[in-house]
Amino acid sequence: MNMFCFQCQETRYGKGCTAGGACGKSEETANLQDLLVYTLKGIAILEETRVERGGFIGKDLGDFLFASLYMTVTNTNFDPHRFISRIGEALAVTRGLRAALPAGTLPDPLPDMASWDAREEKLILAKSYTVGVLLTRDEDVRSLRETVTYGLKGIGAYAHHAASLGFYDPALARFVVRALAAISREEDVGRLFDLALGTGKAAIEAMELLDRAHRESLGLPEVTDLDIGTRGRPGILVTGHDLRAMRELLEQSTGAGIDVYTHGEMIAAQYYPAFRNFPHMAGNYGNAWWRQESEFASFNGPILVTSNCIVPVAGAYRDRIYTTGVAGYPGIPHITGQLSGGGTDYGALIARARACPPPVPLESGTRTGGFNHLRLAAVAEKMLDLVKRGSIRRFIVIAGCDGRDAERDYYRKVALALPGDAVILTAGCAKYRFYKLDLGEIEGIPRVLEAGQCNDCYSLIAFAARLREMTGLWDINGLPLSFDIAWYDQKAVLVLLALLHLGIRNIRLGPTLPAFLSPRILGAIVERYAVKTIGTPEGDVALMMEGR
Ligand code: SF4
Repeated sequence: MNMFCFQCQETRYGKGCTAGGACGKSEETANLQDLLVYTLKGIAILEETRVERGGFIGKDLGDFLFASLYMTVTNTNFDPHRFISRIGEALAVTRGLRAALPAGTLPDPLPDMASWDAREEKLILAKSYTVGVLLTRDEDVRSLRETVTYGLKGIGAYAHHAASLGFYDPALARFVVRALAAISREEDVGRLFDLALGTGKAAIEAMELLDRAHRESLGLPEVTDLDIGTRGRPGILVTGHDLRAMRELLEQSTGAGIDVYTHGEMIAAQYYPAFRNFPHMAGNYGNAWWRQESEFASFNGPILVTSNCIVPVAGAYRDRIYTTGVAGYPGIPHITGQLSGGGTDYGALIARARACPPPVPLESGTRTGGFNHLRLAAVAEKMLDLVKRGSIRRFIVIAGCDGRDAERDYYRKVALALPGDAVILTAGCAKYRFYKLDLGEIEGIPRVLEAGQCNDCYSLIAFAARLREMTGLWDINGLPLSFDIAWYDQKAVLVLLALLHLGIRNIRLGPTLPAFLSPRILGAIVERYAVKTIGTPEGDVALMMEGR
């Protein structure tokens, strides 16, 4: 076995990828990702000493940690060269930290992750084969260390997007440093379990920060009937989560004779006033990430991947796909060039679009979304009144990730099987399983309230908190609210930790339970929170409507 990865739902045989990833990740990249995380732990161990004395983690280092963790999220970056270069940068940071710490303040003995060094690619590659997940022998300790690591990857993603919009939070960087350092040495299962729940608390802070960064930079999302059809001009398709990249691209392509479409999680851009004001902001094209092979092919124009998810690139669009930011794929152009006035230079992408035919239409019509928590709060009184009158019996959160697994049709079937007095709250690409169904409305309230990207699960949590306050309940589990979560990557793991931190019980998780949870740790979670895997759509609907 030359690699081991079990961080996502798609892991082979529900156990672990050991000979290349089911996602398409090579053995080399998988090991380099492990080494990058290992090296970040070294930085954390060195930085922790200073942080514990009240030291401030500046944006350069904090965002380096965030973005590095983000690069290792499933389907974000497949490019081994980018990881080698990133590890080189991380080693330069550890050298600097070692040199800056006064004598006698270095941990003694210095753990290997904080002391190893290499300046040659072949040495980095060799080291990468020695630091994987299985280095932790005890399966329960390994399970919790990895749970925390995956949560930190999610925090890195959200905190990085916020930082790129000017909303850097040193407290989140401090949490990441302390947590990375703690999982490097901690072997007590109880303390690691608490740290996992603490990661859920930090998750809410990271999502709240990103929600604020988006609202203050781009305006309060509006409830929007977004177009799912096409226009007649050539276009650029933008996917991923980076709304800053979206803004820069729209600014630079104004008047260029092309349109800009969203795909996958970038659908959230459709709701922000700052984007809707651009006349060449077109609609949302296609569905969730896993359908990109056919949808990118039929789009005809260039595709900009700003973060996860990118999947192994097919020949039909290989010559017109680009990555930027944390995303990467071997042999695919990565846009990094900067304009003299600041911002990434998308000139080549825009020029490429002009020479392409327009997209092939996939569908037509509109769909409604944009239910940020502040929009939900505005109708919360009305919804509570509908609950009191019996017109709304239950809210069902169906949120998280979509994926290739055929079993995920379960979520479409659940949406269809829910009675007409159930309202679905959703965010993340899981919604594509049912978002385009016509499920009607209840006295003007759509039965599907779509908030946006996975990080917009914050809006669903904030809405639940609002309902709890308004009803005077002390326990959120007393609300007529059930959670049926679809997970795939580590951001969804983070959202799950956030829900557990809030004490939410009876969460359904599917289509399978995480392979990284050992039987004992899973048992502890089930015992404390009654987390369960999905069953049949009809059976689960009946149970959820009864609050079970
Ligand atoms: Fe396997 Fe998922 Fe890891 Fe890819 S990210 S190697 S599919 S476990």
